[in-house]
Amino acid sequence: MNDELRELYQDVIIEHSKRPRNFHPMGDAAQRAEGYNPLCGDTVTVYLTLDGDIVRDASFQGHGCAISTASASVMTELLKGKTRAQAEQIFQTFHDLVTGKAQDADPDRLGKLAVFAGVGEFPARVKCATLCWHTARAALEGKEEPVSTE
Ligand code: ZN
Repeated sequence: MNDELRELYQDVIIEHSKRPRNFHPMGDAAQRAEGYNPLCGDTVTVYLTLDGDIVRDASFQGHGCAISTASASVMTELLKGKTRAQAEQIFQTFHDLVTGKAQDADPDRLGKLAVFAGVGEFPARVKCATLCWHTARAALEGKEEPVSTE
């Protein structure tokens, strides 16, 4: 990744962390799950409104570092309108990206996720970036137990 791209990606992450999208709770009808990353202190609650197999709406609340907040912000944007299977596929792509298994992945396929490519260089940050995704998966599965990255 060149410096220019790295800076651009950092700007996008900072922008999302300062003005997170879909940052609000949802009513009782939504499926929700809580996640915690003890390593960094990030907490997140993910809310999903499902219509059969499709995620109609997604939102989150929580406190965390810039990466965890930006990741949840981008994630909630991406999940809307997706089926469970599509959501799982995006999670796999994202996980491969931040764990360094997809550094050469096609930027078009990565879409908005591409901005997190640099996270792979900081292993301690991987859990910040993936916390919301693990939590969203728990919400999809209707799990009551809070998710912990440890
Ligand atoms: Zn964090």
